[in-house]
Amino acid sequence: MSTRHERRRFRHEASGALLTYLVDVDDPLDVHPLLQRAARYWFDCLSKAQHRECVTCGVWMSGKKYVGALLLTTPAIIKPTTASVIGICRECWLVRDLSLEAIERKATEVLQAVVPNGRFEPQDSR
Ligand SMILES: [Zn+2]
Repeated sequence: MSTRHERRRFRHEASGALLTYLVDVDDPLDVHPLLQRAARYWFDCLSKAQHRECVTCGVWMSGKKYVGALLLTTPAIIKPTTASVIGICRECWLVRDLSLEAIERKATEVLQAVVPNGRFEPQDSR
């Protein structure tokens, strides 16, 4: 979700339902090229000092070492071409050990702005 163009395309494809993947920061995602690209792009931006906020506690993550997990979201269609990425910090992921439900609840608030009335349908990423 970086440019206005991508955001528009995402909106267009998301017809209400979203697929989400909660993955560890070290998950190679090699069976999901779209998610892999989205995650790489997200990390590239981290390294360009474009800091990201943890979706659950709001802490700023200024490098990959502060990131615990990613919540990747695609529209629930056969061949999605866009994916959004939400970061969860190490503290929330490893120490507070937040449940998928807790993370999704927060992420839903964020995604409401992108996809009004969007809902989650959790997927196993493996
Ligand atoms: Zn956090």
